[in-house]
Amino acid sequence: MKGFGVIKPFEQVGWVDKEVPVLGPYDALLEPVAICPCTSDVHTAYDIPATPNRILGHEAVGRVIKVGSEVKDFKVGDVVAVPAVTPKWRSLDVQDSYHQHAGGLFQGMQLSSGEDGCMAECFKVNDIDMNVAKVPDGVALEAAVLVGDMVTTGFHGAELADIKFGDSVCVIGIGPVGLMAVAGSALRGAGKLFAVGSRPVCVELAKEYGATDVIDYKNGPIAEQVLKLNGGHQIDVVIIAGGGTGSIEEGFNMVRPGGTVVNIEVQSDPEGLLIPTFGSGFGCGHKKFIGGLCPGGRRRMGRLFDMILEGRIDPSKMITHKFYGLDACEDAFYLMRDKPKDLIKPIVYF
Ligand code: NDP
Ligand code: ZN
Repeated sequence: MKGFGVIKPFEQVGWVDKEVPVLGPYDALLEPVAICPCTSDVHTAYDIPATPNRILGHEAVGRVIKVGSEVKDFKVGDVVAVPAVTPKWRSLDVQDSYHQHAGGLFQGMQLSSGEDGCMAECFKVNDIDMNVAKVPDGVALEAAVLVGDMVTTGFHGAELADIKFGDSVCVIGIGPVGLMAVAGSALRGAGKLFAVGSRPVCVELAKEYGATDVIDYKNGPIAEQVLKLNGGHQIDVVIIAGGGTGSIEEGFNMVRPGGTVVNIEVQSDPEGLLIPTFGSGFGCGHKKFIGGLCPGGRRRMGRLFDMILEGRIDPSKMITHKFYGLDACEDAFYLMRDKPKDLIKPIVYF
């Protein structure tokens, strides 16, 4: 089985040849229908200690081609959305609330991390009855492929911040993850909604998804720009989806005492995260900080599909580049790594 993945951690990606995965009784084998590369695939390839020959890819719509003996609700031929997080739901950690970390920190992230991902001729999804959802009629493939990572991650940023009606919010970074955080914040009732980024395609879509003001981080410190636009007042919530650890510092500098800084960006700086002394009120400013991994689960996917069907969100607008066939995963990955100005998100159709 051919797949595109990490050859040598931190250095080299390329094509690998692996055995077709062996299924457990609750698992299924899928062939990709469409996949998207993620910025996290780029982190896995170059920034974090990955397993050599690990196949990348964790955003997919797939067609079921084989099921394990105990699978109840899915059959060969079903077309399903596969979330980035596909935990082992029988792990006791699930009872501690965070299925994303069932089995240990980050262990809910199986595809492309714990096991091979979806940039392959076929891929395994564990515990399929719990993890995937059939793509309903009326949901475009380009939207369905984004629910399991971009939508659920961006929305989780708004959830972790527990945004209240009228809250002032700043989303730092408006790639596809940040754009979904903007949309999620607007849906949760944000008042002032600042969005930080520079690529014109992203800026346009941020406004369409509900940003009230767009700030270019290249024009000076973000906190200063936000405070100026907000009458000198600090804001309620900051959601970080780009800019690295410097964005955490900016977040603390602009959030009010009692406010919340949420991080959904993968922070890979080996030096650590930057919590500023003064911005945090000498560490005593009642400013909350939380980071989270995207929720998965069949119910979550179903609920996000309902939002698409009811016209509350259209993630398909983020698809800017289209590729065809397994071999094109390589070009799509490089595009995601290099981030040309006209890119938001590429899709690969199989
Ligand atoms: P992108 O690279 O497409 O977007 C990054 C954004 O950050 C862009 O808007 C970019 O601006 C902006 N940015 C860049 N530099 C700065 C800076 N110095 N200050 C402020 N903003 C800056 O990334 P994605 O949207 O694809 O992904 C975002 C992050 O989310 C990644 O780290 C990814 O790995 C992570 N992720 C996390 C998940 C989770 O579960 N927590 C799940 C999926 C992804 P510009 O317009 O100039 O490009
Ligand atoms: Zn991802």
